[in-house]
Amino acid sequence: MIVIMEIGATEQQTQDVINAIHEAGLRSFVNPGVERKVIACLGVVDAEKAIFRDRFASMPGVERVELISEPYKLASRHAHPDPTIVKVGGTLPGATPAEIGGTQLAMIAGPCSVESREQTIETALAVKAAGANLLRGGAFKPRSSPYSFQGLGHRGLEILAEAREVTGLPVVTEVMEPQDVRTVSGYADMLQIGARNMQNYPLLKRAGKSDLPLLLKRGPGCKVRDLLMACEYVMLEGNRSVVLCERGITTFEDSTRYTSDINAVPVIKHFSHLPVIFDPSHATGDSRYVAALAKAAIAAGADGLMIEVHPRPQEALSDGPQALVPDRFKTLMGELHLLSAALGRKMPS
Ligand code: PEP
Ligand code: MN
Repeated sequence: MIVIMEIGATEQQTQDVINAIHEAGLRSFVNPGVERKVIACLGVVDAEKAIFRDRFASMPGVERVELISEPYKLASRHAHPDPTIVKVGGTLPGATPAEIGGTQLAMIAGPCSVESREQTIETALAVKAAGANLLRGGAFKPRSSPYSFQGLGHRGLEILAEAREVTGLPVVTEVMEPQDVRTVSGYADMLQIGARNMQNYPLLKRAGKSDLPLLLKRGPGCKVRDLLMACEYVMLEGNRSVVLCERGITTFEDSTRYTSDINAVPVIKHFSHLPVIFDPSHATGDSRYVAALAKAAIAAGADGLMIEVHPRPQEALSDGPQALVPDRFKTLMGELHLLSAALGRKMPS
């Protein structure tokens, strides 16, 4: 249920509604809004919907009360009509803060895995020079095979922090276990929950208690609705700074690693106020197709991209076939500048 305040409703009127919600044993979340405040009211059982709707609708300053039919309440655009802009960086020293959402596009780039100090810093400098505004790199790697490179772990986090100091780029890195959230937060500017962990509910809840923004990737076998429900777990714990990421889904098509669900970009943006980015690297699994899908996603309205870059893809310890070399990434960024200008979006400066 959402309570939509009148334009010009006073602070006191809003507070009176919040108090009434709490007195009814319900939880409230206020979305400040540009024009008017919208108060999401959580925990209403079906039998009491009509009673509460009438009670809140008659309070001074309330324009109307609406029932939200979607099962995801906090992620829903219904409860929060204005797009959310997620801020990344600014708590740990060294990073230039970045914004994801609104007219601004976010360009997140870097290696699949942090393999060494040299490889990471070389890549970070190259993506920064090409115009990326966030650095990615995995220290804890979810690999299909237990025999594959599992990431450098804690040492990888230290390398990422050094790369932030050298380049000023805020760092996005994956966390796989609830008990690692605190440690990773000491080094990263944004947490990533990967496709495989999208439905790891203890991890989602723990990330929901973090102060860091979260990049939540869609599981390859999960529907958009599942992604939004996973996001709801995070938001319900208090963390509202979530960016959703489409990274390809599993279909019968096997000429690429996954199938790019470009539909998901406008669909998620229709259902949710949260920023949506696209990852053409995992979606295609093939560096030849990354640029095409990157441009398609921006044309479809994505708020940014996450792209894997490696100076020597043939030597990469993970996902080499889908990594762009820095020169190719730079060319793509030039093309994205032209495209974004035509679309009225802003590339990072
Ligand atoms: C990654 O971004 O490094 C990654 C493992 O991606 P995904 O979770 O989408 O497979
Ligand atoms: Mn990867």
